[in-house]
Amino acid sequence: MSSSTSTLITNIATLVTNDPSLGWGSPRSSTFESGGSSPLGLVRDAAVVVEGDRVVWTGSSRKAPATDNRVDVQGRAVLPGFVDSHSHLVFAGDRTEEFHARMSGRPYTAGGIRTTVAATRAATDAELEANLLRYRHEALRQGTTTLETKSGYGLTVEDEARALRLAARHTEEVTYLGAHVVPPEYADDPAGYVDLVTGAMLDACAPHARWIDVFCEKGAFDGDQARAILTAGRQRGLQLRIHANQLTHGPGVRLAVELDAASADHCTHLTDADVDALANSRTVATLLPGAEFSTRAEWPDARRLLDAGVTVALSTDCNPGSSFTSSMPFCIALAVRDMGMTPDEAVWSATAGGAAALRRTDVGRLAPGARADLLVLDAPSHVHLAYRPGVPLVTQVWQGGERVV
Ligand SMILES: [Zn+2]
Repeated sequence: MSSSTSTLITNIATLVTNDPSLGWGSPRSSTFESGGSSPLGLVRDAAVVVEGDRVVWTGSSRKAPATDNRVDVQGRAVLPGFVDSHSHLVFAGDRTEEFHARMSGRPYTAGGIRTTVAATRAATDAELEANLLRYRHEALRQGTTTLETKSGYGLTVEDEARALRLAARHTEEVTYLGAHVVPPEYADDPAGYVDLVTGAMLDACAPHARWIDVFCEKGAFDGDQARAILTAGRQRGLQLRIHANQLTHGPGVRLAVELDAASADHCTHLTDADVDALANSRTVATLLPGAEFSTRAEWPDARRLLDAGVTVALSTDCNPGSSFTSSMPFCIALAVRDMGMTPDEAVWSATAGGAAALRRTDVGRLAPGARADLLVLDAPSHVHLAYRPGVPLVTQVWQGGERVV
């Protein structure tokens, strides 16, 4: 045993472990009572033991081992911390006017992402980092303990590398998205921009990132360009993710599967062939309902994906243009209300699903050996995340064994 202090978190009404071998939620259990199989590995009247930055024990509170410290959560629910596998938090400025116009039924004149690119390029390092930290803390207060974030508003060698350097100070899940859009100065030479993204920009960015991403969409990058960009990134040791099939049908999802990308994100417009390809792959379908909410767009069909056997993650896509929410509870509520997910599926997708989308096994679950990243809800069960939408239920957050909220 290590010499770290051990802490018992007990009197948990409902514990979500995401450990399918545990609890009445397990499909293999003879005593589950949810009316269908749950992926959540639920334990009633439960306890968790944390030692150092790890979970060392979970189970019934009556069987809990002796520990140095004891925290009584008084009949509340405990879940793994949320894993938000898709955000864009290195930016400056905001786009209130654009949102206001869109929601007021007025067409907004071009600007969009270019507005954010101009503001981001003009910002100092300190301004960008302060903004990132503000939204990082906002997410943490709502239970997000693992957060991926991307570059993509610099679109020059220096500005993309700067974004990644700043992001890497605050999360290990950093994604190079030089291929977000073609910047205005390359409007007449998109091939030249792809050469930059796969050349000098990649050289400057790869040391600061774990992932490479590309926005594969009409008006952004086509399938051939996306393949070239992702392949170049892989050759530099980056792992792959992709913005795919958000606004239209297209080649993104099948490219993700072909290249064994960890995740295809958005997946709003899918053919049966796309769904089949995902179902027969390791690629996670990450759904981002904040984007459809904020643009009044058609919802992705989570039910269709789940019924086909696809692994589904939920994420915020937090960005100033199309989804300015950092709230995983809000995304869970939308997924249950409008995308055909059960409350248990949505909670799984926001925790274990996000971990799968980042190819992580140490987060998104509460079992011996996992990181002690967890949240306490001011409610007796995880179902309240969808049942009480918009209510700030997250009352404690623990990250790496330390209470941070
Ligand atoms: Zn995005």
